[in-house]
This record gives sequence, C-alpha cells and structure tokens, in this order.
Amino acid sequence: MHFLFNSCSKCLLCWLNMSTCLLSSSFLLSLLPPIDLSTPVDIRVPFTSLQTVKAFLETEDIPYSVMIMDLQVMLDEEQDQMLSARAAAPRTTDDYDYSNYHDIADIYSFQDMLVAENPNLVSKIVIGQSYQGRTLNVLKFSTGGTNRPGIWLDTGIHSREWITQASGTWFAKKIVTDYGRDAALTAILDKMDIFLEIVTNPDGYYYTHNSNRMWRKTRKPNPGSSCVGTDPNRNWDAGFGELGSSGSPCSETYRGPEAHSESEVKSIVDFVKSHGNLKAFVSIHSYSQMLLYPYGYTSTPCKDQSELHDLAMKAITDLASMYGTSYRYGSTINTIYQASGTTVDWTYNQGIKYSYTFELRDTGRYGFILPANQILPTAKETWLALMAIMEHTKDNTN
Ligand SMILES: [Zn+2]
Repeated sequence: MHFLFNSCSKCLLCWLNMSTCLLSSSFLLSLLPPIDLSTPVDIRVPFTSLQTVKAFLETEDIPYSVMIMDLQVMLDEEQDQMLSARAAAPRTTDDYDYSNYHDIADIYSFQDMLVAENPNLVSKIVIGQSYQGRTLNVLKFSTGGTNRPGIWLDTGIHSREWITQASGTWFAKKIVTDYGRDAALTAILDKMDIFLEIVTNPDGYYYTHNSNRMWRKTRKPNPGSSCVGTDPNRNWDAGFGELGSSGSPCSETYRGPEAHSESEVKSIVDFVKSHGNLKAFVSIHSYSQMLLYPYGYTSTPCKDQSELHDLAMKAITDLASMYGTSYRYGSTINTIYQASGTTVDWTYNQGIKYSYTFELRDTGRYGFILPANQILPTAKETWLALMAIMEHTKDNTN
C-alpha cells in the first residue's frame, strides 16, 4: 500500500502493505486505491496530518514505507526541467522536443503544424468545446475513402497524467513518419482511419500547468458545492451511478450530476454515434502499468472476453519486448477495482469490440510525476502494444 502525504509544500509518500485503507481522514487523497491483498496503495497526506497518520498506522500495525519524502521537491524539479528545456518555439514537428513535457499551447500548435505539413494524411476535427471554451481537437489520419472503419485513441482525459499527452504527441508524429515506410502501419491506414485526441481534458490540463499539478477532473463548478470538477472517467452512461464512483462533488471520482454532463465526454459520445463505424477505442491513462478491457461496473464477463484477453496478452508481450516493462492485464473489475461510468465500458456497449484502457508507467515510484526522460521509452513501448491492437482490429474488420 503506497501512501503519499501532502500539504501545500511539504509532502510524504509512504508505502503500506495492506489491502484496505482504514484511514477516514478527509485530508487523505488516494492516488491508487485498494485493489487486493497483494497490491500496494498510494496515498498523499498533508504535512499537518502526518503525525496522526503515522501514529494510526503504527497503532494498527500496518507496515508502510515512505516513497517520496517531499512531493513538492519533485514538482519543482519537473518545473525547472520544463523551463530549462524551453527553447524557441519549434517551426516544424521535426524540431518539436518530444522528450519533454509541454503545455496546452505547445501541443495545440504542434497539431496545427502536423496538419500543415501533412495535408493529404492529417486533418484536425473540432468535436466540441470544453467547459471553459477550449476547442476539443481530434487529429484524423486518413488516406481517403468515405467513413472508413475507424480506430480511436485518446490521452489525457485525466489531466495530471502527463505521460499520456506526451506519448499521444509522439504517436501522432510516429503515424506520419511510418506511413508509407512501415508495412504494418501502412496496411492499417490503407483500410482504416485513426482518430487521436491528445488533450482530452484541456481545462484540467491547463490547470495542472498553472495551479495544481495533481488535478484530475474537469473544471466545471458544482452548484451548491465549493468543490470543482467531475471525474470524466466516471461520467459515461455505462453503469452510471453504481458502485465504483462517488456522488460527492469533492471526491476525485465524482461521477457528475448525470451521465454525459461533461462537454468533454458528451463531445466524444456525439462523435462516436455520428461516426457509427469505429472498431477500436483505446483510452490511455497512467499510472500502474495495466491493460484493461470491459467491464468495470459489473463482474459479468463481456461476451468477447476471451478474444480481448488473448489480444491484451499479445499487446503487453509486444510492449515488454522493448524494455522489459511488465504489465498486468484483464477486465477492469478483476484487475483494478469496480469502476462505474467508465469510457470503454460505454464504447464497448456501443458495439466497439476492441475497447481498451491503458495505464502507462510507472507503478508508483514517481506516479503522475514521471520524469521526462521516461517519455520516449514509454511512448515507444506503448506504440508496440497499440500496433498489436490496431493490426488485430484491421484483420478482424470487414
Ligand atoms: Zn486516469
């Protein structure tokens, strides 16, 4: 069990070996909730609560260890690295620094450059606006045809998971680089279109760069509450409101007032329905190194479970072949915990068979603050798993 202890500037991360968090303090922010007896949990605790929490753990005989003594030190280092890496704005996507984290303005201008450089392959679709009015941009990679079968990829629906938006940016460049050169990717794009939403929660992403690096939810206010935001991965109309989400606006897993209440979610719902021909849907999160398929809201196996399971195994085997990174895989409810209203449960119920959630690096050493020197290795290994899923989808689509 990992616990992360935090206040404005002084934080500690502890590692505890038990399954259930017995601590009820509202000060605790669970980063990786209890899964099972063998899996640690990470929790962040404010400095002011530290002595109370430690005393509790010792009284209850719960073993723990401190993983991060002061989270703010890591945040400051990350900020310093971003500032020192910041060169003049790149003029082409070849000049873009894929090995560092970028803010939303950089990523949006990257998207426009990529479209301008590859007008016959890439276009930008605006599927809606965020609560604060930012455009929701989707890159469409297409070699022609009309409403070809499609593959959807999204990153960053949880804004603090920076490794995902950084990997998504690299994936976009990888697709234009490999088309016409790599036989497997070329065959996919000659038959199917790929849609990629890199900044899926732009208001949250902006907020992680300007106010609170650890922000996860949307930024829409909740009437009657001082707490802001809804968890966009509990807001979908698939087991909405059941166990595995919260009805409290202050919770990190607040489901929202109703299904699809968040424009960041509703815009994807509308796109998926109007497209009508998506065959794969991959939603990319971090952290914990897992590849998950439906369901999260029910323990009833989905009807394609054995095919999805075998494909997940192939994908994580390919992923591990590059650097040996080890992934767990299975249905969400059996591999992590019950979660209701999640993206891929909804897309699967819409008939998109190859619906998967990734949880990228790491397993908690750095958590959401994954050092920038892990961006390229993470993106490269993940690409192998994505290729396995996309190739299988192509081979099993008429
Ligand atoms: Zn997430």
